[in-house]
Amino acid sequence: MRKIIHIDMDAFYASVEQRDFPEYRGKAIAVGGSPNGRGVVATASYEARKFGVKSAMPSRQALQLCAELIFVRPRFDAYKAVSTHIREIFSRYTDIIEPLSLDEAYLDVTEDKLGIGSALEIAKQIKQAIKDELNLTASAGVSSSKFVAKIASDMNKPDGLTFIGPSKIEGFMEMLPVERFFGVGKVTAKKMKSMGLNTGADLKKLSEDDLVRYFGKSGKFYFKIVRGIDERTVKSERTIKSLAAEDTFEHDLITPEEMHTELSKLADKVSLRLAKNELKGRTITLKLKYSDFKQITRNQSFPNPIGDYQEIFNTVISLLENVDLQNKKVRLLGISMSNFGELVMYSKSGNSYQLELFE
Ligand SMILES: [Mg+2]
Repeated sequence: MRKIIHIDMDAFYASVEQRDFPEYRGKAIAVGGSPNGRGVVATASYEARKFGVKSAMPSRQALQLCAELIFVRPRFDAYKAVSTHIREIFSRYTDIIEPLSLDEAYLDVTEDKLGIGSALEIAKQIKQAIKDELNLTASAGVSSSKFVAKIASDMNKPDGLTFIGPSKIEGFMEMLPVERFFGVGKVTAKKMKSMGLNTGADLKKLSEDDLVRYFGKSGKFYFKIVRGIDERTVKSERTIKSLAAEDTFEHDLITPEEMHTELSKLADKVSLRLAKNELKGRTITLKLKYSDFKQITRNQSFPNPIGDYQEIFNTVISLLENVDLQNKKVRLLGISMSNFGELVMYSKSGNSYQLELFE
C-alpha cells in the first residue's frame, strides 16, 4: 500500500501578495492581467472568489462581477522563492517529489526519511512548517494513489487536511461528479451528462467496452479511475515539453472526411497520453505532410489548459479548415500538445496582443 500526499498552496499568488502587502489583506484581489485589454486572472483571493471571480477568467469579466476588485501584477520571483522553500520542506521527508506547478506537488512517503511512518502525520508537519516558515497556508490530501490524494486536497480548502483511507475510496469515487475525474474535460463531461452520467456511480454501471465505445481509448482509463485504481507513480522528474502522435498513411488521404477519421484517432491517442501524464496543454499543433513531402503546421493557443479528446478534436478540425486541401493529397497527419507551463496571460507587445507564458 503506497502513501501519497498531494499538497496544494491556497490561492497561491494572491496569498503571497496579501502576506507581503498588508493593504491587500481581507480584500478582494486578483493577481493577473489588467482589465483594460485581454488580461486574465491568474489567482483570485478568497474574498474575490465569493463574487465568483476565478482563475483564467478574463479580468474584464472579473471586474464586472466585483467592482471593488483590486488587480495586482504578478511577481513571479516572489512566487518562485516560496516554491523553492516549500520544496525544501518536502525534501526533509522524502526525495520522491513530483511538482505539478509552483504551488502543487505529489509526495510519495511510503518510506519517509525520518521514519515517521504515518502519511497523515507527515502532512500535518508539512502544513505546520509552511505556516511557521512562510506564513502561508496549504491544503493536503492523503491517500494511497495520486488521483485520490489530489481530490482529497481540494475538499477542505483553505488550510485543509483530508485523509481518504483504502476502505473509503470506492464509495468516495461513486459520489464524485464526472467532471472531477481526471482526464474528463469540459466537453466530455457535457457529453456524459447528456447521457445521464452524472457521478462516478453512473459511470461504474458501464462496462469497459461501453466506455471505450462512447469515449474512445480514454474509456479504459475511466473504467479504472472510477474504481479508484490509479497506478501512476510519483515521478520526481518531469521533463515532458510536448506530447505528440502522428501517422503516415499507406494510402494518401484526399477527402476531409478521411482526414477527420484519422484526426479523431490521433486526438484519442494524445488525450489518453495527456491523462496518463496528468498534463494539460495550452497549445495544439496540427501537422500535415502532402504527398510531395511539403510539410505545414497550424497551431492554436488557449488561456486555459485543455486535454480532453473532444476539445483537441474540435480544435484540429477547425485548424484543418484553414489548410489548403484543394487538389492535394495528404500522406501524414500529426497532433501535438505543448505549453504545459504555469500560466498564460495576454500581454501587450507593440500593437498586438500576444500570449505570454510564465514558466
Ligand atoms: Mg493552489
